[in-house]
This record gives sequence, C-alpha cells and structure tokens, in this order.
Amino acid sequence: MEPVADPVVPAPAPPPIYVTQPELPPLQDFVAALEQIWDSKFLTNGGQFHQQFEAALCEYLGVEHVSLFTNGTIALMTALQALGIGGEVVTTPYSFVATANALLWNGLQPVFADIDPATFNLDPARIEAAITPRTTAIMPVHCYGNPCDVERIEAIAKRHGLKVIYDAAHAFGVRQDGRSILRHGDLSVLSFHATKVFNTFEGGAIVCRDAAMKQHIDHLKNFGIADEVTVVAAGINGKMNEVSAACGLLQLKGVDAAIGKRRAVAAHYRRLLAGVPGVRCMPAPVHEANDGYFPILVGDDYPLGRDGLYQKLRDAGIHARRYFYPLISDFPMYQGIASAAPENLPQAAAAARQVLCLPIYPGLEPGAIDSIASLIKSS
Ligand SMILES: *Cc1c(COP(=O)(O)O)cnc(C)c1O
Repeated sequence: MEPVADPVVPAPAPPPIYVTQPELPPLQDFVAALEQIWDSKFLTNGGQFHQQFEAALCEYLGVEHVSLFTNGTIALMTALQALGIGGEVVTTPYSFVATANALLWNGLQPVFADIDPATFNLDPARIEAAITPRTTAIMPVHCYGNPCDVERIEAIAKRHGLKVIYDAAHAFGVRQDGRSILRHGDLSVLSFHATKVFNTFEGGAIVCRDAAMKQHIDHLKNFGIADEVTVVAAGINGKMNEVSAACGLLQLKGVDAAIGKRRAVAAHYRRLLAGVPGVRCMPAPVHEANDGYFPILVGDDYPLGRDGLYQKLRDAGIHARRYFYPLISDFPMYQGIASAAPENLPQAAAAARQVLCLPIYPGLEPGAIDSIASLIKSS
C-alpha cells in the first residue's frame, strides 16, 4: 500500500483573546484553603473565611462595613430592600442590565436619565429633572469605574430627601483624593463576578457606614433570621459561601499587582491609538482607577464604523465587547417606560452606538496589544 502523504496541516489559529480573563490565586494556596474547609466541615453561614474576608476587605477598601453576598445582583436587590425603597428610582440606561433588573424585581419603577458623555455616568442635571413626587431614590453606576459626580448627586439627594444606592460593580478599589469612592451614598454595591477586576468566581458585597445598617443587611441576606427562634424580616438567601470567601481572601494579596498590570495595558493602548483617525480613547484618569475596562469611541468618521471594527477584530479572534449596547432602556421590559424614549437619552444612545471595550486584563501580552492596535489602525 502506498503510504498516504501527510495532509498539509494549516498552522493552528492563535487562541482567541477575550475582553477579559479572570485572575486566579495561586492554586496551591487555594488547595490549602480548601483543605481547611474540608477539615472544618464549615461550608457557609459566616464561617472563619467569611469573617476574615469581610475584615480584610474593610481594611483594603478603606470602608467601615462590608456585608458579603453570593453575587452583585442579589446584593443590589437587598440594598434596595434594606433602605425600604418604593415608587420610582432614577437610574442610568447605560449599564449592565442587572442595574435595572434589580429595580423591577423589587417592584420599583425605573426612571431613566441621560448620561454625561465625558464620563458615561448619570448627568446630575438630568437626574434632578427626572425627579417626581414618587421618586424615593437614585441608583447611579460608576461606569467603567469612573467616579460619578458624587458631590452633586449628594446635594440633589439632600434637597429632595432621596436615598442613593451606588451600583459600584465596576469600582472595586477606586479612590478619589486618596479615599474610597465606596464611601459615598447610603449604600454601595460591589460585584466579584469572574469578569470583574476582583473576583471570587461569583460574589458581591454591600458597603455601608453604620453597624446597625450592617446588622440589618446581614439579617436580610440570611432569610431575616436574627437568632434560632427569631425572624425579623422577609429576607432572602444571599450569603457568600466559605469557598468563595477563602478565594477572595487570597485574591486580595494579588489585586494591587493585577491593577498595576492593567494600568500598563491601558497606557500601552493610549500610546498606540493616539491620533488614529475616528478613534478616541478616554483621557488617562486623574483619580486612582482600576482600569477594569478600556472603552474607545469609534466615530462616524472611522471607515469601518464601530460594528465593522467589532467584526474585523472578531474575525481575527479578538473579542472586544460593545459595552453597553443595546441600552437597558431598549430591552423589551423597559422600552415602554416613558423615560426610555430615545429622545430622552441622546447621549446614552450616542455612547451605545460608538463604544467598543477592548480586551484588558493583567496577563494581556504587549504583543497582543500591538496586534489589536494594528488591526484598528489599518482600517
Ligand atoms: C456585573 C454587574 C452587575 C451584576 O453583578 P453580578 O455579581 O454578576 O450579579 C451589576 N451591575 C453592573 C454595572 C455590573 O457590571
């Protein structure tokens, strides 16, 4: 029999590059923590890792109280319950859908206000214009970890007697003038989902300022149980388990180094993309950022357009993301709300049309950044 010639094997395609890649603690450290959990048989309900992680987070973030949760969405829903929010809540259409979903799950009416195109955050003037007699709270998002105009929002809330719940899912470790951005508002909510700057696989937290509120939140996340025979509220199960808490404790050790590497990736992109026609990067932040996202604005003068660039990168195995497109206000369950009308949200609509978030994570190689920038430039 004739030997069959080897078929010509094409060079394997390089592995795809996703918009983010999660950080993980050293495996042997995680295994050692798992061994402790196995030995103790204490799996959840505020075990030693949960307690240590809460204390370590307060210290790292520079905040008074942290209550850990199973994920950021349940934390958002619980935060609204903890403050007894009713009626209408002014929020942003330019976010991940969980922001508004948390309102609907609490039977609240979202009222969308437009964003400031310089920061992608709620425009305080538009917040104030959206307030009605039924408004009880404002739920802004520190979009991409950019701090909201916290002072003006606080002044508006005071003037109208409103609560402020920050969706701070993007804002882990963000500081302004040396102080945590999470100290603002009545409550701030973090997400530790795998795609975020800091992860516990799944997880989240509520940050609050006083011990009584922390106690109330801790009851709410544990069915409302105060002790063996006492239930004080119709709570939910939002508790973080010991494996996630142990993971978080280990992750804290590496988070500064990880954010430092992200910062270098962002700086590299900014250098390479400066002056590319039709493409605009956000200016380097003046606050202590976490570089969780690297949004670029792709203008109408960019030959391929935003979606053309998105597809071109995708064809090359690079999965940039159109965060946030579509707007929350364009999803079917929100579309019918009066404030969801596109005329009410022109800046949010423009951002949704133009933004592309490029891959950014600590392990993203400089060579990959060069390739991504070359693809963007060559259009
Ligand atoms: C990720 C995210 C959430 C939800 O957090 P989970 O931990 O995934 O439930 C909420 N809001 C924003 C802005 C997010 O990015």
